[in-house]
Amino acid sequence: MATITFLGTGHGGGAPGRFQSSILLHTDGARILLDAGEPCTYSLLSRGFALDDLDAVWITHAHCDHTAGIPMLLQASKIRRRSRALPLGLPTHLVEPLKAWLRASFLPIEHLKFPLDIFTWKAGEAVTFQGTSVIPRHTSHLDRYQDELQDKSIESFSFDIQAEGKRVVYTGDIGGAKDLEPLLTEPVDLLICELAHLSLADLLAALASSKVGTLCLTHVVERDGLDRAGIRLQCSQRLDQVDSVYLPDDGEQIEF
Ligand SMILES: [Zn+2]
Repeated sequence: MATITFLGTGHGGGAPGRFQSSILLHTDGARILLDAGEPCTYSLLSRGFALDDLDAVWITHAHCDHTAGIPMLLQASKIRRRSRALPLGLPTHLVEPLKAWLRASFLPIEHLKFPLDIFTWKAGEAVTFQGTSVIPRHTSHLDRYQDELQDKSIESFSFDIQAEGKRVVYTGDIGGAKDLEPLLTEPVDLLICELAHLSLADLLAALASSKVGTLCLTHVVERDGLDRAGIRLQCSQRLDQVDSVYLPDDGEQIEF
């Protein structure tokens, strides 16, 4: 049995009553933070979760609604005397800016007092960690910046996760519905999909012939006259093959 806890479900524009993107994946073997939007440290501690118990942090992309909680998480872990290593998975282009940010915060990595094991994602290359594996899948969310900033290492990822014999897909932020296609060619037990960078109509079309057990929509932007209840109703009515549809609030948990 594994648990997903939605620590932050807001979109990048700042959603009243919602924190920024962060999810705790808790399997039998590992406790992994998927993205570290603010205030993930507060959210973890408020739930009685010891920061020392965190086994890894996996970051999908560099936007601050997914990363701004990293320095605070590291500062709090240092103050709370973490000693064991913390693996931190990052897009390549974020490594040096993060190190500079930490130095500016008087948290240089060498002063953390625990090993911060930074590793970088390569699209399609699986990483296995204490029984949980992830294949990072490229999304087009940040592609335009590769040319604008002339940096081909700029990349955003979805996470294709195998945990407890189940396939969990966390989209992170995508560039549009076309990014969902390669993720949905095989059955998905739990799809955690953002709904800020594609319309509900595009989502419904992308999922029409998919095999998805449970659909969780996060990062939801309400538009086209539909509120969250309306979005959920549309999904439930139009996606016969999906067993359950959730639009989780911060703090909600799903077991799988
Ligand atoms: Zn975002």
